[in-house]
Amino acid sequence: MITRAALGFLAASMVAIGARSLRALSTSGAAVAALAGAAACASGWWWGVLLVAYFALTTALSKSGSQSKARLMESIVEKGDERDGWQVLANGGAFVGAALGHLIWHSPSWYAIGAGALAASAADTWATEVGMLSSGQAVSIVSGRRVPVGTSGGVTVAGSVAALGGALFIAVLAAFARWPIVFAAVALGGIAGAITDSLLGASVQCRRWCSACGKATERKVHNCNAPTEVVGGSRWVDNDVVNGICSVVGGLITLVLQ
Ligand SMILES: [Zn+2]
Repeated sequence: MITRAALGFLAASMVAIGARSLRALSTSGAAVAALAGAAACASGWWWGVLLVAYFALTTALSKSGSQSKARLMESIVEKGDERDGWQVLANGGAFVGAALGHLIWHSPSWYAIGAGALAASAADTWATEVGMLSSGQAVSIVSGRRVPVGTSGGVTVAGSVAALGGALFIAVLAAFARWPIVFAAVALGGIAGAITDSLLGASVQCRRWCSACGKATERKVHNCNAPTEVVGGSRWVDNDVVNGICSVVGGLITLVLQ
C-alpha cells in the first residue's frame, strides 16, 4: 500500500507539474492534485487511473479554445482558468474520500460512491468546458430564460451532450477496472449530479452584479476592478461549494441505484 501511495504521488506529481506549466492548475491546485493522486493509488491502481484519466481529459478540454473562453472567464466566472486547491478538492474530494474509505473498510459501496462522484464531476466540468465554446444560446435550467454562455445554471445543447459523454467516460473506465458496479448506475448518477449542479447554480449559488459595467458576474472584484454586490443566491455558496455538492450527490445516487 505504501509503495502504491509513493508511486502514485510520483506519477500524480508529474501530471500536476505538467498541468501547472500549462497554466491549468495553480500551485495550490497542483499540490492538492498530487496528494489526491497518492491517496487514490494507495487504495488501488484503478482508483489512480480513473482520477488521472479524468484529470488529463478535463485539462485538455479546458485548454481547447482557450482564447474565446478567456473573454467569458474575464467578466463572468469567479476564478481564472488555473484551477486552485479548493477547485481540485471540490471536483475530486468525494472520489478521494471514497478511495480512503475503501482503504480503511472494504465494502463494494465505495466503488459506487467513488465512480458516481467522479462521473458527476466529469459530466459537470465537461459540460462547462464544451458549453463555453458553444455558439448557441444558453438557457437557465430553472427559469428557461436566455442567459449569457458561462453563467452558472445556464445549459446549452453542446454542454448537455458533453455532460453525457463525461458520465459515460467514467462508467466505461469503471467497467474496464471490473469494479463491482452497474454501468447504468454510474452513468445516471453522473448525469443526476450534473443536473443538481445546474439547479443549484441557477438558484442558491451567489450571484453578483458590477454596477460600474452593468454586468452580472460571479467575481467579488470585477475585471474592471470595481467591487461587486450580491444580488441573488447565498453569499456563502460559491461555485466550489456547488461542485462539491454535485459530486457527493452523484456518488450517493449511484449508490442508491446500485
Ligand atoms: Zn465591472
